[in-house]
Amino acid sequence: MPAAPSRRAVTALVTATALALATAACGSGSTLSSAEGSVITSFYPLQFATQQITGGALPVTVLTKPGAEPHDLELAPQDIAGMTRAKLVVYADGFQPAVDDAMAEVQPASVLDVADAAQLTLTAAEEEGHADESTAEHEAHDHGSADPHFWLDPQRYAAVAKVIGARLAADDPAHAAAYEKNTAAFVARLTTLDGELRTGLASCRSKVLVTSHAAFGYLAQRYGLEQHGITGISPDAEPSAAGLQQISDLVRKEGITTIFQETLVEPHLAETVAGSTGATVATLDPVEGITSASAGTDYFEVMRSNLSALQKGLGCS
Ligand SMILES: [Zn+2]
Repeated sequence: MPAAPSRRAVTALVTATALALATAACGSGSTLSSAEGSVITSFYPLQFATQQITGGALPVTVLTKPGAEPHDLELAPQDIAGMTRAKLVVYADGFQPAVDDAMAEVQPASVLDVADAAQLTLTAAEEEGHADESTAEHEAHDHGSADPHFWLDPQRYAAVAKVIGARLAADDPAHAAAYEKNTAAFVARLTTLDGELRTGLASCRSKVLVTSHAAFGYLAQRYGLEQHGITGISPDAEPSAAGLQQISDLVRKEGITTIFQETLVEPHLAETVAGSTGATVATLDPVEGITSASAGTDYFEVMRSNLSALQKGLGCS
């Protein structure tokens, strides 16, 4: 007979409903529900390029929150759950270990790795030029890994933007024409910036760029500068006393007047070198995130303020 549901069945039903509600509540407004149909990018330059290309046609989010240091990003379980539901996840393999690891959970069909397009040809050894280090120091610097900071070279950044644009157009044919147009406009702005950097850094009293973390290797290579990082490619790699001494000697020998520090990293190392050599400290922003402390509201503004800082610090005319 159609008796009232047993106590056990009711309990089960209540539990199921509670679970469903909890799941829904958890999802509303979080990465879980908003991830559906969105593009998730791993850090600011990929977010910015993707936003320029989609022009608002798709929601674009970023895993590295503004002001957070991207190299040692940690992901929460809901970040990874969001990545599994996104329309597309855009990242650069080899930059953020937590993101690389999370890719095991994401369908390969909804992933775009831009590392190849970025042509990550520099390693810590090449960009720091510490050819005389001992083997142990070499290993401590993790020389096997490529320098990820491709966006500081507008030409590499443009190559990455083209790959993102092509992928979005292929995945979303209804908007393909708009994505292609936006990509071309973004690349044109990067080409203009490239020209400004080339002209602005063509004639400088010094070509030696001493930075706190060695993020500017591609920029230095593109525009004929020589970068010496006080720390390595990852800013939390503390230099040895001998390494600091080596940099200080270089600063004195080359008559370097400005040490560049960056926005997201403690300035003490740059100040130590500056203090021992009489050089002053100026800020160079690796554009790994935009905050109220950034010298500009987006990539282009910050890069132009970097150009001004370089011209002043290196004595460019
Ligand atoms: Zn960096």
